[in-house]
Formats: sequence, C-alpha cells, structure tokens
Amino acid sequence: MKASLLVCIGWLLTVSVVAQVPKETETRSLTVQPNQPIQVAYEQPFSSAILLLQPGQSLTNSYLIAGADTLRLYPEPHPERGPSSALCVFRKPVSRLTLLTGELRGIVSLVSLYAPPLPAGYVDNAMRSAARQDCGKPPVVPAAIWRTGLAPPKEAPVATKVQFVIVHHSAGGNTVADYAEEVRNIYLLHTQNNGWNDVGYNFLVGQNGVVYEGRDGQGVIDGDNVLGAHFCSQNSGTMGICLMGNFNDVPPNAASLAVLEQWIGWKLKKEGIADLNARAIHASSGKLLGLVSGHRDGSCATECPGENLYAALPAVRQRVTQTCSFTMAVSPMPLATEPLAGATWTVYPNPSNGPVTVYHHAADPAQVHFTLLDALGRSVAITAHQSTADTWVLEPAGRLSGLYWLRARDKTDVVVKPVLIGQ
Ligand SMILES: [Zn+2]
Repeated sequence: MKASLLVCIGWLLTVSVVAQVPKETETRSLTVQPNQPIQVAYEQPFSSAILLLQPGQSLTNSYLIAGADTLRLYPEPHPERGPSSALCVFRKPVSRLTLLTGELRGIVSLVSLYAPPLPAGYVDNAMRSAARQDCGKPPVVPAAIWRTGLAPPKEAPVATKVQFVIVHHSAGGNTVADYAEEVRNIYLLHTQNNGWNDVGYNFLVGQNGVVYEGRDGQGVIDGDNVLGAHFCSQNSGTMGICLMGNFNDVPPNAASLAVLEQWIGWKLKKEGIADLNARAIHASSGKLLGLVSGHRDGSCATECPGENLYAALPAVRQRVTQTCSFTMAVSPMPLATEPLAGATWTVYPNPSNGPVTVYHHAADPAQVHFTLLDALGRSVAITAHQSTADTWVLEPAGRLSGLYWLRARDKTDVVVKPVLIGQ
C-alpha cells in the first residue's frame, strides 16, 4: 500500500515537472474582424510572435499588445510559409496577447515562441567594443553564447565560397531592448516555424553596434563561409548580413552602418576582392550582381532590406573602399568564372622588357579580350594585335615597370596572371 502510494506521488511529481517545461512554440487559429481587438491567453509565457496570413489579407493598422509593448505588425520580407507578419519580440515574456486587427478580416494563425530570457546584459556587455578602423575582423558574439539554453542545430553546416555580401533587414521593431533576445527569438522562428537547421543569415547586427553570429560553423567552418538561407533559395556564393530593425520608413543608425561596413571590408578583403563596386555573375541565380547587394537584387520579390537601407548601400560601398583602401589590394581575382577544364592561356616572355605574347586556343577569337592592371588595381592602357588565330601580342602604351596583372577572358573563361614588366 505504502509502495503504491510512493509510486503514485512520484508519478504526480514527474507529471508536474514535465508540465512546467515551457513549450517553444504554440499556434492559435483566430477568426478576426476589422477593428475588433481579440485577446489570447496562454498557460505559459511567450517571448515573441508572428501572425500567419491568408493571401490578400492586409496588416494595415494592425498591432500586437504584449504587456507594456504595443508592436506594429509589418509584413515579413522573408516569408517561408506564405504571407505573415515580421517577428515581434517582447521586452518581457507574457502569457496574454491582444491583437488590434486594423483591416484584418478572416482566419489568421498566431504563432507564439518562447526563448527563455538570459540575465540582462549577459551577452552584450561583454561584446560591446569600439569600432575598428583597420578592416581587421570585428568582434562577434558566437552562436554558442547567445544560444545558451536553446537546442543547437541538428545538422552539420555546409560550406560555400563567398563572393557576394547580401544585406538584409529583419523588418522587426526599431525599439528593441535586448538584441541578444531578438536573435534568440529569430533562431526559434527560423528553426521552429520555417523548419530550417539554423538562423538564415550568417550575421545579425543590432542597433547597439553588436554583431551576432547567425549560422553556426560548429567549429568546422568559419561562420562567414557557412551556406545560409536568406537569398531567394539561391544562397551559394553569398554571405547574408541582417541589420535588425525595419528600414522601410527610417534610416539605419550610425552604429549599425559602422559595423556593417567593417564586416563588408573585412570579408571582401579576406576573399581577395579588389574592387568593391564590381559586378559579377552569381552562379546560383545567373544574375549579374554587385559584390555588395541588397536582398531585393535577387530573384524573388521582396522589399528587403527596406527602402532606406537599400538607398544607403552606395555610400556604404564608398566608405568601405576608402576606409579599407581597397585599391591597394594586390591580387585581383577572376570575377566571373573559374578557368574551364582544359582551357590554357600561355603568357610569354614573363618577365618581359615590354611586349607580351599570349597563346590561347579560343572557339571564337573575336571574343578574346585583355585588361592589364597595376599593383594598385588601376587599368593600364595596352593594345592587342592578333598575330595568328591563337596568338596575340600585347603592347603597353607607356613605359611600365613592376608587377602587373593580366586579366584575359573569352566567351566562357576568365584568368588572371601575374606579369613582371621592366622597361
Ligand atoms: Zn532579406
């Protein structure tokens, strides 16, 4: 009798312990009418929410009230499961939400998420640091730190060789109290709601100037080379940086732009890219892309990264070029394609006292072009005379001395070769 009572008490304790473990997500289906607020109560607190919509439903004048927060519902620029609002992260978890419907009518789904909050400043205080001006690697909050208490990604990361930096905004609020909590809730959204392995972006930038690692390299790949999920399902060759906030109506602040510029400068230097304003074919999408592009430059319809952040990108490229001395790069890389198997370009003599001969067998010799760059990445005038079907003689227009880079291309192939010229 005593034994069975103990078993029974043990079972009750187990049930009550299990019941206290909060769910990471809960979905409620709601039938709503315009301008008729609707209250939703939960058995546990939640820290963020999105509203899944039917096609044609509008978020005009729709808000979510969560404790002391009244959060405007913006359209999500990266919808994964049909149209939805952007993620609303609350200052404190709440167990009661009020939806101010605005123009909403019909059936919507309220998806609530719970990332247990970390102690205030747990992540950010240790990471806040002065802006770097030397284009070295800026400080970043590792995923393993901000993800404390949340389950890690289930699958191993996949590497990609990055040639393009793609800039995003989160389209969330501009008055975030704790950006680490914002990142934790974005992680839950992307893993629980979108069904991805990890955060879609490689990095996220808070308006406090702190950078958070997104996709986790898990100790086997650098975070900046992990294949993400952010560019219209055509992610290879790209690194995604998301500025947290909504920049449709307001510009990004100076702190976010400063760290965005540091990351772009550091990453493109690491990849040996010489000209920040260059454009190249993005193999996954087949599009001609700027090396620093906005999400909206891709193949899917999105307003991301917001009107104001997108408009800021030319100035960002210019400042990075000035700050990081991009014209000093000495290794211009072939931007369009790697040399095809079997393609040969022979340059001789090298070193040369002036003229250089190039041998290359091309299917269409009229498509062969040459560019000569000096060590500062500036184009140097040359003339090319075709002497046989497969041979060209290149004559520099002026006196040259030093190391130059010969960029040769035909219809399908680009190569860059160092040439030493002394006259
Ligand atoms: Zn985006």
